[in-house]
Amino acid sequence: MTAQVFILDDEISYGELIAEVAEMQDLVAVYTDNPMDFEVTFNKHPMIKILFLDLNMPKLDGIEILRILAEKNFSGNVVLMSGFDAAVLETARVLADESGLNLLDPISKPFSLQKVAEILSNQDFDSLNLNENVVSLSEPKSQLLSRKEVLDALQEGRYEVHFQPQICMLKGELNGVESLVRLLDKDGGLIYPDRFIQVAEKYHMTKLLLSCVLSGVVEAYINHLRFLGDFTISINVSALDLDDLNFPDNLNNLVQNSLLSPSKIIVEVTESKAILQIKTGLDILARLRLKGFQLSIDDFGTGSAVLSNIKKMPFNELKIDKSFVDRLLVDYRTRSITQDLISMGHNLGLKIVAEGIEDRETELILKGMGCDIAQGYLHGKPMPAADLVEWFKKRIPHK
Ligand code: C2E
Ligand code: CA
Ligand code: CA
Repeated sequence: MTAQVFILDDEISYGELIAEVAEMQDLVAVYTDNPMDFEVTFNKHPMIKILFLDLNMPKLDGIEILRILAEKNFSGNVVLMSGFDAAVLETARVLADESGLNLLDPISKPFSLQKVAEILSNQDFDSLNLNENVVSLSEPKSQLLSRKEVLDALQEGRYEVHFQPQICMLKGELNGVESLVRLLDKDGGLIYPDRFIQVAEKYHMTKLLLSCVLSGVVEAYINHLRFLGDFTISINVSALDLDDLNFPDNLNNLVQNSLLSPSKIIVEVTESKAILQIKTGLDILARLRLKGFQLSIDDFGTGSAVLSNIKKMPFNELKIDKSFVDRLLVDYRTRSITQDLISMGHNLGLKIVAEGIEDRETELILKGMGCDIAQGYLHGKPMPAADLVEWFKKRIPHK
């Protein structure tokens, strides 16, 4: 089995300890006490999501390891462990910042089992952001577009924004639409986000992507969607966009020049943990709210968002991930977790959207649990704006 947790510490007892805690959470950990072995061992485990790293080791110190990780574009998290030499810690921070490594809060030795358990349970072990460099050696991700293909498509305007309806569960009416972008290949064929969003994020093209999506949304609104009445439009933004202090103003300017009002725009963000790690993250969320935009936390329940983080942030809406919705009919534990999520979300004043609803039975369960908004193939797939208008016209007689 391939490991998700890696521990490098010249005191073997720390490796053993963390590995034990990981095992209690059904995770596989590898540890080594020899920094010289690090690279070879690390390369054997492409699914590593978190690395516990001792800063003070003989021969090769933690800083050098960070440099190696940066060269590998390691996309997992790093937890530094040390007796806290402030200067070394500062160097590590600067290095990590410059090289795009994700440093979590350091832990000082000796630490408790509970502390390690807490850190591990806050990790997203299910998502697919693999230790990419290592993977690419053995298994090229041919389905992903290259940087150039994504850039060319965006710059040449080869993209389309599709819209998926969101239905108010109580009234059965159109409550909003989510904008979902597709690229077009040279023959006009659709390319779905699983082949290019990652690429755009990796090569820092999310700003360009967002401006393309927004111009697609504005155009669709002016030509088609505004005739559908009063509803919200959700847009997806990458956590990376929240690194840019101009983001709220830029978004505001774009919207001001269209017929849209900020209060009708819902900004969806996925990675609450990433937001907290970005210095400007919370600041930007707060300023988006001040400008009248709404905020939604996407993919809730996948591990990238935890409720304790959400409480600190000014969200209006929570989207329960499809992976929960899919299991509602067959798994009573999923039902009880989902019910808790909905109740807790409501207690925090959030509207609850369920994503990926494909059948009526699932929708009825969610409705019974108090879920506010339904999104999924049951009501409609993502479609071009003109098709959404047709969908809307056909739908009214069925109400
Ligand atoms: P997401 O935000 O979670 O979007 C929902 C995804 O679930 C969409 O996939 C949608 O087509 C799909 N979906 C909705 N209902 C159902 C259903 O009933 N059954 C099934 N099987 N699938 C359903 P899509 O369009 O492929 O988008 C995938 C992801 O790509 C999105 O996940 C979002 O994270 C990202 N994405 C899409 N557009 C953008 C964008 O403009 N900007 C950014 N940054 N990310 C985007
Ligand atoms: Ca979304
Ligand atoms: Ca989602």
